[in-house]
Amino acid sequence: MTQTTHRAGLAAAPPDPRSAISVRGLHVHYGAFEAVRGIDLDVHRGEIFALLGTNGAGKTTTLEVLQGFCTHSSGSVSVLGLDPATQRNELSARMGVQLQEGGFVEDLTVAETLVLWQRLADRPDRPGRLLERFDLLERRDVPVGKLSGGEKRRLDLAMAVWGTPELVILDEPTTGLDPESRRRTWDAIQELQEAGRTVVLTTHYLEEAEALADQVAIMHEGRVAVAGTLADIVAAQPARFSATLPADLADLPRLAGSARREADRVQVQTADLQGDLTTFLTWAAARGVRLSDLRAAPASLADIYHAVRSDQTGVRRP
Ligand code: ATP
Repeated sequence: MTQTTHRAGLAAAPPDPRSAISVRGLHVHYGAFEAVRGIDLDVHRGEIFALLGTNGAGKTTTLEVLQGFCTHSSGSVSVLGLDPATQRNELSARMGVQLQEGGFVEDLTVAETLVLWQRLADRPDRPGRLLERFDLLERRDVPVGKLSGGEKRRLDLAMAVWGTPELVILDEPTTGLDPESRRRTWDAIQELQEAGRTVVLTTHYLEEAEALADQVAIMHEGRVAVAGTLADIVAAQPARFSATLPADLADLPRLAGSARREADRVQVQTADLQGDLTTFLTWAAARGVRLSDLRAAPASLADIYHAVRSDQTGVRRP
């Protein structure tokens, strides 16, 4: 049963008109297993918000609560000022959703599916616009059951953005898409934002969050481990640089970060990329050393996940 927490004796604060989603102290159980363990989320209107995280972290479960498909054990949830648990019909009229697994009628063609959707949807739109937008014109007469995985994802996305809803929730919208389809999906998401809509998506791709998201939250084992802008999260993790050195060069300069040498390759992990790289390049120049294969990069998603797992994120917990 859904329970909403109230503070006794306090008048309810008026809803913030800028808030698209507000989640406080959300817990979700599947039987004895606690899949979501007390998370807070704030998504502002007009924002693209990316929910990242390890496998089984609770992202899909959280999205299902936002859609009113999953019952939470405690905490409060407000989506477009509504309670998804009790006002799902009102909410679905204002919200588009793409699930990880689309529920299609396999025998209907792509065009028939969109025409059916046109009859069912609360918002007006045209099948032709979506067929063109998601590159499905040539597949319009193909039964959905015969579409490739990527084509099904695109059809599902077309239905989610049907009528340009106020809020669009996308669960791994680009998983399994080829690079061109991924690019088109990113364009469609950015178009929604340009039209003033709010988008919440889950993804396992850092570059996707980087390209699209104003704010991200990274979940692990049912909790939000870090949240903020991706730039803040990445900046809080050590960067890396590496280079190949001549085999006869044994010493290394003194650096703020940690250096590891394997045969002729040196790898440095550092919180001061600019400072350490300058020291390293100056040191190499003074010795007349030509550095081959010099590479420098900020933390990767793998580094961030590793930090999240080991609780070494150094970034604020909400
Ligand atoms: P992924 O990135 O792998 O898709 P996720 O972050 O979306 O993972 P969820 O699908 O929300 O994770 O699952 C969170 C946890 O809850 C997992 O351990 C999963 O096995 C469990 N779980 C999800 N749905 C159910 C269910 N219907 N019954 C029991 N356990 C469930």
